[in-house]
Amino acid sequence: MGKVTGFLEIERRDRGYNPAADRIRNFKEFVIPLSEEATKDQASRCMSCGIPYCHNGCPVNNQIPDWNDLVYHGDWANALRNLHSTNNFPEFTGRICPAPCEASCTLNLQDAPVTIKTIECAIVDRGWKEGWIVPEPAKTLTGKRVAIVGSGPAGLAAAQQLARAGHEVHVFEKHAKAGGLLRYGIPDFKMEKHLIDRRIKQMEGEGVVFHYNINVGIDRSIADLKANYDAVIMAGGAEKPRDIPVPGRDLAGIHFAMDFLPQQNRRVSHEPVKSNAPILANGKHVVVIGGGDTGSDCIGTSIRQGALSVTQIEIMPQPPEKENKLLTWPNWPMKMRTSSSQQEGAERDFAVNTVSFEGEDGAVKALHCVHVDEKFQPIPGTEFSIAADLVLLAMGFVSPLHDGMVSELGAELDPRGNVKADTMHYKTSVEKVYATGDMRRGQSLVVWAIREGRQAARAVDLDLMGKTTLPR
Ligand SMILES: Cc1cc2nc3c(=O)[nH]c(=O)nc-3n(C[C@H](O)[C@H](O)[C@H](O)COP(=O)(O)OP(=O)(O)OC[C@H]3O[C@@H](n4cnc5c(N)ncnc54)[C@H](O)[C@@H]3O)c2cc1C
Ligand code: SF4
Repeated sequence: MGKVTGFLEIERRDRGYNPAADRIRNFKEFVIPLSEEATKDQASRCMSCGIPYCHNGCPVNNQIPDWNDLVYHGDWANALRNLHSTNNFPEFTGRICPAPCEASCTLNLQDAPVTIKTIECAIVDRGWKEGWIVPEPAKTLTGKRVAIVGSGPAGLAAAQQLARAGHEVHVFEKHAKAGGLLRYGIPDFKMEKHLIDRRIKQMEGEGVVFHYNINVGIDRSIADLKANYDAVIMAGGAEKPRDIPVPGRDLAGIHFAMDFLPQQNRRVSHEPVKSNAPILANGKHVVVIGGGDTGSDCIGTSIRQGALSVTQIEIMPQPPEKENKLLTWPNWPMKMRTSSSQQEGAERDFAVNTVSFEGEDGAVKALHCVHVDEKFQPIPGTEFSIAADLVLLAMGFVSPLHDGMVSELGAELDPRGNVKADTMHYKTSVEKVYATGDMRRGQSLVVWAIREGRQAARAVDLDLMGKTTLPR
């Protein structure tokens, strides 16, 4: 613990944003980093608690008090080494993690947790700037070959760990570039894509081979991968979106969020949009159905495209402004949160169910809605309509896609339709085949995907070599 009285003397201070009026003019990141001095001050607030709840709150168990101390003492290089020992990609989590660590921080009992995510991001951004982050190829090779399907955070974390353990790793990705939802789901204004490119370069320097535009199960069979590799890890994500089967659903202008968001990400990075029907929000009244991260990303993207209005509706009731700490801490509390995209100008309404869509000349014009009680039953007399030219469905994802790889493999599924595997061995019911990330656990978070990728890599290494030095 660096400064014994840090938490008493120094107020919590976090990164700010460029003003909304400026940031909505482009798709660039808009978070303003703290200065080096301010970051050190914030790190000095860490009390190095006897039981650091933040460790447990963080799904990759980042050793937060240790690197807070190193930052306070100006030892950024060792802080980076420590951070990388638990998290392959802190520059991703340092930007887009919801930071359950901060909810678990003891100082959150007084609503002033250590700015853990900001310090994490500062450490790794500094590491890149200083040139400290370079390929770390294995010193000896094992002669074993591992195929990984999917290049989202789970597949990438597994690939990096296995390559560093000396295996020959091949990643198969159906899209033209690596990153999964980091690349094609999460908008550039939350995370710019050059951050992924430089990690891929690092991994290529460690021997990982990327094969793009190959949809396993369609362009190349999983049986073929099984025959040619010593192990296969499926990290294909949970891509099947939840639908809303109400009258009018087939009208033009109603789209899944993941038909809309990737188009914009491709435009920003000058990739072909891959659709002869561009979905754009400019000049439209947009309604986003669903109140989570994906919904927020639809709002921010619509506003940047020049929507006339954006309304977001959510079927769950409005959460309380403030949690009851003694009931929730150190767990993640349900409370009212307002994302940067929502701050940019979305109307929000809660406890709303969509009853039907109304159209004109085959295109959506309005939603007919009703407020619901806590059992999701309609409350009579609360019916209302919202004008809409574009409706974006952001109600979550139900499972991985089953057509293609999953059905070809024929592995056992869990009751929710995810590929069944436990979190110790990550083995599917099919010999030599493993599953990890959203494909195994269902729709989740980047930080959980990194954890699962690392742990699946360890399980594979152990099975291939009979022993492993990779951490769990
Ligand atoms: C719009 C949106 C915003 C989000 N925002 C956040 C956020 O702010 N913070 C956060 O923590 N989480 C966020 N999430 C969730 C997070 O992105 C996911 O939990 C995480 O990316 C899952 O990682 P994964 O590697 O398991 O799968 P994915 O990232 O989905 O990657 C799977 C990859 O596998 C590829 N693939 C699938 N099948 C095949 C096949 N048969 N052959 C070849 N390739 C295949 C896919 O193309 C994809 O590249 C968001 C999700 C969405 C949709
Ligand atoms: S990865 Fe997420 S939970 Fe862990 S320390 Fe970073 S921001 Fe917190």
